Amino acid sequence: MPTPAPSSPSAPPSSAGRAAFGFEVEHRLEETTRATGSRVAADGGPFLGRTGTISTPHGQIRTPAFVPVGTAATVKAVLPESMAELGAQALLANAYHLYLQPGAEVLDAAGGLGAFMNWDGPTFTDSGGFQVMSLGSGFKKVIDMSTAASSAAGDDDVVTGKERMARVDDDGVTFTSHINGDVHRFTPEISMQVQHRLGADIMFAFDELTTLHNSRGYQETSLERTRRWARRCVAEHARLTEERADRPYQALFGVIQGAQYEDLRRKACRDLGAMDFDGFGIGGALEKENLGTIVRWCSEELPEDRPRHLLGISEPDDIFTALENGVDTFDCVSPTRVARTGAVYGPDGRFTVSNARFRTDFSPVQEGCDCYTCTHYTRAYLHHLFKAKERLSATLASIHNERFVVRMVDGARQAMADGTYVEYRDEVLGRYYAHRG
Ligand SMILES: [Zn+2]
Repeated sequence: MPTPAPSSPSAPPSSAGRAAFGFEVEHRLEETTRATGSRVAADGGPFLGRTGTISTPHGQIRTPAFVPVGTAATVKAVLPESMAELGAQALLANAYHLYLQPGAEVLDAAGGLGAFMNWDGPTFTDSGGFQVMSLGSGFKKVIDMSTAASSAAGDDDVVTGKERMARVDDDGVTFTSHINGDVHRFTPEISMQVQHRLGADIMFAFDELTTLHNSRGYQETSLERTRRWARRCVAEHARLTEERADRPYQALFGVIQGAQYEDLRRKACRDLGAMDFDGFGIGGALEKENLGTIVRWCSEELPEDRPRHLLGISEPDDIFTALENGVDTFDCVSPTRVARTGAVYGPDGRFTVSNARFRTDFSPVQEGCDCYTCTHYTRAYLHHLFKAKERLSATLASIHNERFVVRMVDGARQAMADGTYVEYRDEVLGRYYAHRG
């Protein structure tokens, strides 16, 4: 039997706890592809993707990894046991939702997010900033998107007749609950206090969300605000880590904003990269055409030895673009969101299983898929469940969709390791989008 390590009561608890989090790079995509002679980066530059392992107090995450979203401490319609069985390595919940319902103190008393929702593996919470400023303000609905991007006046424009529900100032955000209209306030300190009580292994710093429609001037002001908020998050996080030294260490990721501007993104990476963050989130509005470029700027600037998480992407081509440009983990709500409408993923693209042509189709959703849904049920049965508006429809479609994305990313990780990434990517995407009209 191994001898237990001697305890060292003199060591500061926070640094002892911090050893529970780590990241190690294993394979660099540029090196493995060069070794097999198949080096083709989409934009001519070197690949920045890599494989590795993130260690947390609740286990390891082999990267690159897809992190399914369980907004309110549940992946909608799917048991946590099913998520583990289909290969999900970690789950991400939303601080904003859990703060409003049931309240962070409830999760704290339960022993943290994972214990509360009966999920043994690693967990993430976002900072609440995105929801505070998008759901809370009804951003897209309330801000007039027709305003010219160059117009400075556009930053405060509100569509006539609608009330703006979130107000940003230099100290924080005051917002109105989308549930009952109560007024709440988030600051960097409050976000850290909420996320420490929620107890996820990986948390995100509180940042200001901007849109592509904000002016350049506003983006600069906002980025500076996010930088000052990041410093306050680091300080409050250090204080809370000391104060709650009996709890498992929670890692803090800084969030990179800067919209579509190269100089702002790179500056944000240098500013936050110099702070005491365990990793980084790449946030903000990202247009599909710029996704790879923006991720690349960030990967070039950020410290190589810390993990990078892309906040919220959905389509298979975007996933590959992100991974090969250096994203280690990403979260994605699409597999369950589209599943609830009857849309299921397949190697030849997404299709709607509630369409009439599947009424007597007794094949599985995807031939050869090893998920619980495909090994036990037919398209005809799912078609029936959707038509009859049975709740099991969401469960079975979600299980297949989550498994599909997990398997796709597992395949990318394996291919990155063995030097066949380009062939794998081209085969998967070529087939998935072959019938795109
Ligand atoms: Zn399946």
